[in-house]
Amino acid sequence: MRHKLLIANRGEIAVRIQKACRNIGLPFVQICSEADRNARYVREADDALCIGPARARESYLDIASVIYAAKVSGATMIHPGYGFLSENADFAEQIEAHDLIFVGPPSSAIRDMGNKVRARQAMIRAGVPCIPGSPGPLPDDPETIRAIARDIGYPVIVKAAGGGGGRGMRVVTEERELLDALTLTREEARTAFGNPELYMERFLTGPRHVEIQVLCDTFGHAVHLGDRDCSMQRRHQKVIEEAPAPGVPRDLIEDVAAQCLAACRSMNYRGAGTFEFLFEDDALFFIEMNTRLQVEHPVTEMITGIDIVEAQLRIAMGEPLGLTQEDISFRGSAIECRINAEDPNTFMPTPGIVDRWQPPDGEGIRVETHIESGYEISPHYDSLIAKVIAHGANRAEALTRILAALEATTITGVSTNIPLHRRLVKDSNFRTGGTGIAYLETMLREETPA
Ligand code: ADP
Repeated sequence: MRHKLLIANRGEIAVRIQKACRNIGLPFVQICSEADRNARYVREADDALCIGPARARESYLDIASVIYAAKVSGATMIHPGYGFLSENADFAEQIEAHDLIFVGPPSSAIRDMGNKVRARQAMIRAGVPCIPGSPGPLPDDPETIRAIARDIGYPVIVKAAGGGGGRGMRVVTEERELLDALTLTREEARTAFGNPELYMERFLTGPRHVEIQVLCDTFGHAVHLGDRDCSMQRRHQKVIEEAPAPGVPRDLIEDVAAQCLAACRSMNYRGAGTFEFLFEDDALFFIEMNTRLQVEHPVTEMITGIDIVEAQLRIAMGEPLGLTQEDISFRGSAIECRINAEDPNTFMPTPGIVDRWQPPDGEGIRVETHIESGYEISPHYDSLIAKVIAHGANRAEALTRILAALEATTITGVSTNIPLHRRLVKDSNFRTGGTGIAYLETMLREETPA
């Protein structure tokens, strides 16, 4: 069958997916909103369709419009990228119902992993290590809830089963705060996610964020592509990512990755997926699974030489993985800096026109972006404008190269977080490796005059 892909996303990830299509000779149609119709990657696409106004709700998030665009353009498959509709089980289900191919897992897997209680239970069944916590949704009875928390041990974190994007969570340090925290979080969960279900976990105080990348085909073959460390975060948003995670024992990764693959098989998982963990005291604890391509996938591609987007497309077209675990080797180290158009002090987005954009290049450097000189950054979307990635034979070389790349990047007209990246890459603790998820925010807080 002759396939054609609809790219249901924008910005750097749309450019990245286009590149993979061109590599394998897959025709594609790029959708856009009115705000993006003049972007170069839209103008130069083989085929493009404007599906609605700038507001994402009326374009990139409008399921009916996206599916209609696929039908009228003769597309057979839809790649959702990340964000927008990528983890929307209803979207995947409607694509299936229209006899189109969703480049991702079956809608049932998205639905199950989108409910954190169900995801946790599936992981426990597959032997994936989870944070000690409530066995299922929290009951209503206050005495039982208190007993569960006592069993787990304080501090605990109350989380919404349907939560996401760092919202719907509350840390509780002692018993007398517990019931109030529960009531507040339940109310938030009901309004924000339409699902009042809550659960509880032990709150880890100094963890790192470590994740494992997997790829599964439709024939039950699954491999892992190793791990990444994404601990450098602000407000639960990743700022720098790297592969592999420095100092995490390789045999631990191998053991846990094998359990992740077992979990994939048990839910008939298909495509690329990421298991996110907190790493503390030399142990990994599952927190959630992302059933889509991650922003930080390039660091894994750089150390494995595997094109994850191409693999996603081939799997969706029904091709076997053609890879065994033994075929995958890890070479060197890679670091990615997310370049955001934002104010260096307030972190508020800085939409506007880019006067001059000069990306870095050189040995081991890769840049993923949709911007160019003269590009207008829209206020309607995420502030991510580019990703600068460096690969080296080891972490020291990757650090040297990423710093040189950041120094060589020029952008004028809008302010960005490049100065912050330059500082972080020179920071002695980051250079040592292994800083936790609270590191960046603590650093920024200590610098702010009281
Ligand atoms: P979301 O889907 O909203 O991203 P996660 O469950 O992935 O929610 O949690 C988001 C972040 O909250 C984690 O990356 C981590 O920083 C923090 N977090 C979540 N659970 C715990 C926990 N049990 N202990 C400590 N920090 C946690």
